[in-house]
Amino acid sequence: SAAVEAVRGLTPGPDGDEVQLICHVNPDGDALGSMLGFARALREQGITRLRATFAGDFELPTPYQDLPGVELLVPEAEAFRAPALVMTFDVAAESRLGGLVALLRAPCVVVLDHHASNTRFGRVNLVAPRAAATSVVVDALLSRLGFPLDAAVAECLYVALATDTGSFKFDMTTPEVHELAARLIATGISPGDISRRIFDTRPFGAMKLAGEVIGRAVLDPTAAAGQGMVWTYATQADLTRHDQRPYVLDTLIDPVRGVAEADVAVVIKETPQGDWSVSMRSKGAVDVSRVAVVLGGGGHRLAAGFTGHGTPEEVAATVKSHLEAHLI
Ligand code: 5GP
Ligand code: MN
Ligand code: MN
Repeated sequence: SAAVEAVRGLTPGPDGDEVQLICHVNPDGDALGSMLGFARALREQGITRLRATFAGDFELPTPYQDLPGVELLVPEAEAFRAPALVMTFDVAAESRLGGLVALLRAPCVVVLDHHASNTRFGRVNLVAPRAAATSVVVDALLSRLGFPLDAAVAECLYVALATDTGSFKFDMTTPEVHELAARLIATGISPGDISRRIFDTRPFGAMKLAGEVIGRAVLDPTAAAGQGMVWTYATQADLTRHDQRPYVLDTLIDPVRGVAEADVAVVIKETPQGDWSVSMRSKGAVDVSRVAVVLGGGGHRLAAGFTGHGTPEEVAATVKSHLEAHLI
């Protein structure tokens, strides 16, 4: 394929081609894991003029700070200016690249993604809408390139796969997902250690913050045409009070989404700019990506988001009215 040719055509070594890898802003486990896994695999093939980055705050969420490949990460400002090849990971649209969008002028841009809403902004687009994670697409490309899966690459891809499948709990956890997980685990990585580090370890303050945010949750059992909606919000002041970093707000959706009386869960997170970054999750009756798209965001059927304005109550009311209007 064209992606294989683009990678095979690279000149390795210290005077070789510059390759810039990018993932989406506010990176999650799939964005970082799929990008850093591919970075490590390329590095092992002698591609040394290789940098990985994402736009915005360079401080990684604590759970990802020890991923293999982080040594290849540079801040946005240190990205290559005119690389021969740009590859994007888990990026559904140019808007998710932030200030790095100018890199799309590179002579070759390869997009690796799994969002159904992907706008195919690359010259080569490897988009698999039914894939559970971008790391599935990365694995397919690595195998077509004949690049081996070592434990470092595998750990990155495992983190990506486990993140986007909710630790192998979501619907897209197919036999193929478990087959990939099996091949990754066979390299010698430890799923127990990785899960504990990535999903089950948090600062005391993050737990206290979660307690407050859960404490102010509101249940509206008749919203979403009787399917029910639960929502809460978290502010920058909550973060400051508990001395926590912004990524902690992104973990709050998980305890909220399990509420039995609600099909839809919403966490409304204040941004440093004073807007609201809204996370929505559905158990299946409602396609929350339709609401997200109408409100200028995007995502998947069961997990989507957008940027909201006003008070948290106003944002929740907006979601509610769009749920009624666009339902099922
Ligand atoms: P999360 O709630 O975890 O931030 O996001 C859930 C899903 O919605 C992810 O797949 C993410 O790509 C998408 N998403 C979240 N916020 C936005 C947004 O503001 N714009 C777009 N296009 N997608 C978003
Ligand atoms: Mn992502
Ligand atoms: Mn993903």
